[in-house]
Amino acid sequence: MTDMNNTPQNNENDYLVEVEHLKKYFPVQTGFIDQIFSTEKEFVRAVDDVSFKIRRGEVLGLAGESGSGKTTIGRVTIGLEEKTAGEVKFDGVDLSTLSNEELRKLRRRMQVIFQDPMASLNPRMSLGNAIRQGLEIHYPETKDQHRDMVLGVMEKVGLAPAKFYYNKFPNQISGGQRQRVVIARALVTKPELVLADEPIAMADVSVRAQLLDLMVQLKNEFNLTFLFITHDLATAKYICDKIGILYLGKIVEISDLREIYAHPLHPYTIALLAAVPVPDPHERRQEPMPSGEIPNPIHPPSGCRFHPRCPYAQEICALEEPELRELRPGHLVACHFAEQFK
Ligand code: SF4
Repeated sequence: MTDMNNTPQNNENDYLVEVEHLKKYFPVQTGFIDQIFSTEKEFVRAVDDVSFKIRRGEVLGLAGESGSGKTTIGRVTIGLEEKTAGEVKFDGVDLSTLSNEELRKLRRRMQVIFQDPMASLNPRMSLGNAIRQGLEIHYPETKDQHRDMVLGVMEKVGLAPAKFYYNKFPNQISGGQRQRVVIARALVTKPELVLADEPIAMADVSVRAQLLDLMVQLKNEFNLTFLFITHDLATAKYICDKIGILYLGKIVEISDLREIYAHPLHPYTIALLAAVPVPDPHERRQEPMPSGEIPNPIHPPSGCRFHPRCPYAQEICALEEPELRELRPGHLVACHFAEQFK
């Protein structure tokens, strides 16, 4: 059995997270009549063969439209959902080899910042107690120190003076402050990996930059590793070191963030980048956002999944699925014609 309390096991390399060929399919709920007459079970292919690695201290962003599978990947990566196939390793340990107790201990090292702080905080629980909960689960042996630990982390995230906020309730503070509570709750157990799932999407525009600044500062101070889920490449640019672009359950492009901004190679990435607002009103963008909705993940399009929306699609695109291949150093893209965008 693996001792999850020990210091990192994976001395062979410096990857904290390694995900290989991950799949997550959800069975489609059908009615009684459909169950009688249908011969095959149908599945929503939320995540369909996704691989990536995250170095210690790195921020990997996963970006894509709603329905691209990014949130599901995050949840499976930290063990909140079971995978259908593939492998997820944390610090060199395959999560599927762990007992429930081992997984519970490991969760102390992986925490989540959810999108909607109002939904993730109990309205009847004081802020101090909400933050304290994780300590009570993961560090019962240090019970006497919990209040001080909570006050310390509240100060760190800008809920100061912490004693003033400790006994307040979620409805007595602003939306931005609630998100700071959620960040404090994630950090109080001293995690190594933080899954940040659209962490500023619900915040007022006026406080988004402050929250991003706070996360960057905390990441540097505590050497945190982030899996940062976003639909917004402007947000990703602010915090991510590396970014994977997702489309319909697959990574279509992945590289360092600066490289992708400078040399996007997939038509979908090019369109997403063109949709990012720029402060200069005279700057003109060349590529329109692809029209149409993201297709049904129960019956994804044949070949390249992006072909029904791609302005560059050719016959082969509907017939053959493009492989993710390295076109520039460390820059992988899944498009038959990516060379023409180099
Ligand atoms: Fe477009 Fe074809 Fe490239 Fe897919 S493989 S992104 S359809 S050009």
